[in-house]
Amino acid sequence: MAKTTDSAPGGFTRLFRMFMALLPAMLYVVGALKARAQAAKLPVLAPSDDEPSSNHVFWITPGVTVDDATRRAASAFAREGGFDVVDLLPGEVDGVAFLELISRSNAPGAGKQRLDVGQIAGLAMLVSKDLVERSGMKTPADTPEMVYATKTLRRYGANLSVAVAPGLGFAREDSSLRGRHKQEYFSVLTPLVFLIELAMLLPPLRAFARPKGVRLLTLAAFNVQPLLASQDTPIRIRDPLLTILLRPLLEIWRWLLAVLTWKPAAPLFDQADGDRYAAEIAGGPESLLEPRRQTCPLCESDALEVYIHAYDVTVMKPGEFYLERCRACGHIFQNPRLTIAGLDYYYRDTYDGLNGANIQLMFEVEEETYRRRARRLQPYTQPKRWLDVGTGYGHLPFFAKEIWPDTQFDGLDIGEGINEAKRRGWVAEAHQGFFPDLAPTIPGSYDVISMMHYLEHTREPREEIQAAHDVLVPGGYLLIEVPNPISPLGKMVGGNWYGWLQPQHQHFLTERNFERLFAETGFEAVQWHWGECHMKSGFMIGVLVRLMRLAPGPEWPWIPKLNFTQRMLKRVVWSLSPLLLIPAAILDQVMGPYFEGGHRTAAYGVLARRKD
Ligand SMILES: [Zn+2]
Repeated sequence: MAKTTDSAPGGFTRLFRMFMALLPAMLYVVGALKARAQAAKLPVLAPSDDEPSSNHVFWITPGVTVDDATRRAASAFAREGGFDVVDLLPGEVDGVAFLELISRSNAPGAGKQRLDVGQIAGLAMLVSKDLVERSGMKTPADTPEMVYATKTLRRYGANLSVAVAPGLGFAREDSSLRGRHKQEYFSVLTPLVFLIELAMLLPPLRAFARPKGVRLLTLAAFNVQPLLASQDTPIRIRDPLLTILLRPLLEIWRWLLAVLTWKPAAPLFDQADGDRYAAEIAGGPESLLEPRRQTCPLCESDALEVYIHAYDVTVMKPGEFYLERCRACGHIFQNPRLTIAGLDYYYRDTYDGLNGANIQLMFEVEEETYRRRARRLQPYTQPKRWLDVGTGYGHLPFFAKEIWPDTQFDGLDIGEGINEAKRRGWVAEAHQGFFPDLAPTIPGSYDVISMMHYLEHTREPREEIQAAHDVLVPGGYLLIEVPNPISPLGKMVGGNWYGWLQPQHQHFLTERNFERLFAETGFEAVQWHWGECHMKSGFMIGVLVRLMRLAPGPEWPWIPKLNFTQRMLKRVVWSLSPLLLIPAAILDQVMGPYFEGGHRTAAYGVLARRKD
């Protein structure tokens, strides 16, 4: 009895130690079997005698060759499967490159988000010429550019596939492209990804240096991993013997080459851009503000109080902003507000320009949100024509079309994105300009108008709602969603809250003030939406915004050049940032149910009907 209690902890510790020692070897085997299952499913191009279709072009990265037989086979494969883009994988690779290649061969399939590109190998790709012309893109020169281009093609409705092309000539990978390839997926986290790769190479390297006992097992499992993974798959390992004998050395050499030759993408601007941005606010950021109003724009009361103080939260341009609250009616609005030139200065580079690619990715994170919004009309009407006001790149029409396949979706926006939406076929008709200007030219022509996170951006919400009334048919519906000014998040996160989104958001309407504007313009509220409109991440984005102001992230031309101390501070801040960001993200998740209840949500919506 006594013996058992004495030896039990020792026995357990020994077992645990043995498990930990065996763990790397087990993980290599599991990893190999997983990769093998994926590789075995890859389709292989079948030889074809038919000439390649004239609508197919090939994008090829330096060092790769695509012969005529492969072109014919790829073209036939694309025609049969109805694919617009085929990512071609070689039939033979170096042992060290195999696993990475397989992890990148996951073009989108069932169950994935519609706009997700998955990862691509980007060695050689067949692409439909129609699609390239429609998207107006240039031929990408190498792998990282192909990754970027594929994201655009996906938005143009590309049907992607991946296939093994046994005849593809792929002599040696270009190390300098590996860093940039990672950067396309991991952005600022690329150095961290390199570090993780290094950490994962340490156990096999240690085992290689002193192979004895259980380390021999680690080494053996690591070295045979690529061969095990490629068994019975269409991709062969070119150098099996070398891989089995020397894989740890080959891997660390490959890693070193990639790190040493990695050149981060060139900056998007030069000194002249910096001077141009500085000249625009030579009179100080205050010159972009109108004189402060003394009265509430909704009820004309002069009982105003400063409610929120904030800075630019999206791209950190200079200037500070105040939101004031009307004590009489509860309306919250930017005061003093931006001039037209000011709006142009702050909007630029946020939705397009230098930040356009990032913002699009943000819009694409939550595909289900768009569908949910579109479904709100289901109990009420079968729209024939639907106008999405403030449509941006047309994401709502794109996803709403799934719910309403017979509806014609048009879009309106002041930005360039609306023309892109038209080229992609996401909207049938594109109107670029201001809604109140357009309204008199198209009276009574729509069954539904949607304004998703639009009204808070406008200068005169009353005019916008009036315009919606004029453009709708009698009995037509107006679907609105806006940030919720009475959410406790507004005070908890303060000026860094994305709901306030300074300096872009001008007005924050309460439920009661919506009722007032509806009564004035001839609408009645049919249904209010609260819980389902909640957007999480309020705390996490708040912390992120605070950190970005403390240590500006990207090198934007309007951020003054950093001196040595500031650059060091920036590194320290971002290295430690997970210590704040992770708890904030957890808080968002834990508090989610609380904010989804009552009228506490980050955003809310209303469906209103035009009275006859
Ligand atoms: Zn008021």
